[in-house]
Amino acid sequence: MIIIMLGAPGTGKGTVADVLEGKLGIKHISTGDIFRKNIKEKTKLGIIAQQYINEGNLVPDDVTIDVIKERLEEPDVADGAILDGFPRTVKQAEALDKMLQEKGKQVDLVIELMTPDDEIIERIVQRRVCSNQDCKAVYNLVLHPPKVEGICDKCGSKLIKRKDDTEEIVKERLKNYFELTSPLIEYYEKQGKIDKETVSVRINRLGEDVAKDVANRIKNNS
Ligand code: ADP
Ligand code: ZN
Repeated sequence: MIIIMLGAPGTGKGTVADVLEGKLGIKHISTGDIFRKNIKEKTKLGIIAQQYINEGNLVPDDVTIDVIKERLEEPDVADGAILDGFPRTVKQAEALDKMLQEKGKQVDLVIELMTPDDEIIERIVQRRVCSNQDCKAVYNLVLHPPKVEGICDKCGSKLIKRKDDTEEIVKERLKNYFELTSPLIEYYEKQGKIDKETVSVRINRLGEDVAKDVANRIKNNS
């Protein structure tokens, strides 16, 4: 099963994907995490991606498409994947459809997460992530703080703030989302694959709640 997480930065795509991975037993793949790992390891891909990411811009389509193509060849995703952060442009969506078609697969479900803009900015500015690349746990200083300040509950590593998680860069990322990524909503609506979900503290509905509901629906349908 191929599931796509769609939604602006900070809507909780990663959280929903993580919970779904646990409940459905299919791998969570985040292009953002792949890029960040390469930046840390200073690979060729990392050096290219870094300049775009730090400014809040998208990494070019051809580079990103190659990354996903390679990742989808690995055996751990033979039964499916939850794609978080890919596709982000119509060109990437078309390339993905082609890639999957060649394997006799297709996109099965697109989960679109929606959160009010001001809440997104607040949430991203309060976000801290685990510096351990094998853990990558995500915290929110207000909603979901770590037990010990600055330390990951799960693995004890230091928590850091992502370089692109500043108010100025978030605004750029949001602009890019609405210009380049939101046309994908129509792309997948036409295929009847979208499940729209609101994530907002104001209605007491967080990513974990959405993930539980979606997982139950998938299990009841299969
Ligand atoms: P968020 O959804 O919070 O913006 P991600 O971790 O998904 O965070 O992505 C971080 C950055 O990585 C993006 O702002 C973008 O620069 C780059 N990136 C991730 N996925 C893609 C993609 N599919 N195409 C182009 N750039 C991407
Ligand atoms: Zn950790």
